[in-house]
Amino acid sequence: MSTLTIKDLRVSVAEADGTLREILRGVNLTVRDGETHAIMGPNGSGKSTLAYAIAGHPKYIVTQGGVTLDGEDVLAMTVDARARAGLFLAMQYPIEVPGVSVSNFLRTAVTAVRGEAPKLRDFMKEMRGAMGDLAIDAKFAERSVNEGFSGGEKKRHEILQLELLDPKIAVLDETDSGLDVDALKVVAEGINRFRARPGHGVLLITHYNRILEYVRPDFVHVFVAGRVVEEGGPELAEILEKEGYERFTPAAEATVS
Ligand code: ADP
Ligand code: MG
Repeated sequence: MSTLTIKDLRVSVAEADGTLREILRGVNLTVRDGETHAIMGPNGSGKSTLAYAIAGHPKYIVTQGGVTLDGEDVLAMTVDARARAGLFLAMQYPIEVPGVSVSNFLRTAVTAVRGEAPKLRDFMKEMRGAMGDLAIDAKFAERSVNEGFSGGEKKRHEILQLELLDPKIAVLDETDSGLDVDALKVVAEGINRFRARPGHGVLLITHYNRILEYVRPDFVHVFVAGRVVEEGGPELAEILEKEGYERFTPAAEATVS
């Protein structure tokens, strides 16, 4: 059993001049294994800030509330400890790691999470199998992480990590961005394989309904101006697709400082 709990989370970002601006204004969300949650919201509503805060990015300062995984304080963990605890975070804009090949990066990550290095031959076999499932060319393993990757390659690489690291809870920020429909299907199938295995939960952050046609969420949370303003089932995503975020934004705008 695994539960990611976000409780009354308030997060500010340090502006260039050093002043703090509050972005998240009290977020409450619980993701259990076996559940898929979607956070949907307009641009600038703070969706990525939520992902960065959970990841422990130093620019995002938690001023109130917290995040726990199975009762353990996630925000107090090192990045490594978060991964070992079973949390996987895929960022909207993943960083480039020149000089580090995909296969080296993945083997290092797998070693950190599993607590021991897999045998090279076993690992290569496992990695190639996962790459095959994601229709990733074998040569991809020798490229530098995210360097010159297309949008689609970045997102496939994330799902490849997801398959190999096998976390308990995966937080995926805009995993559908920059994907054509074929890549979207492959990525969605990867997420579906992951969540079909017992003991896995997904928090899918997305601006568009598109990916939710392939990865049907159990719960949809509408996110506006740094907080959840409405919650429902998958039908809510369809309503948002038709009507946009407009009906949620006027009240929210009134609260923006
Ligand atoms: P979303 O992912 O929903 O589009 P973000 O979390 O990226 O929204 O951004 C929410 C708000 O916080 C925006 O107004 C954005 O400009 C601001 N923000 C996010 N990160 C930073 C940062 N590192 N420095 C300054 N402002 C930021
Ligand atoms: Mg974002």
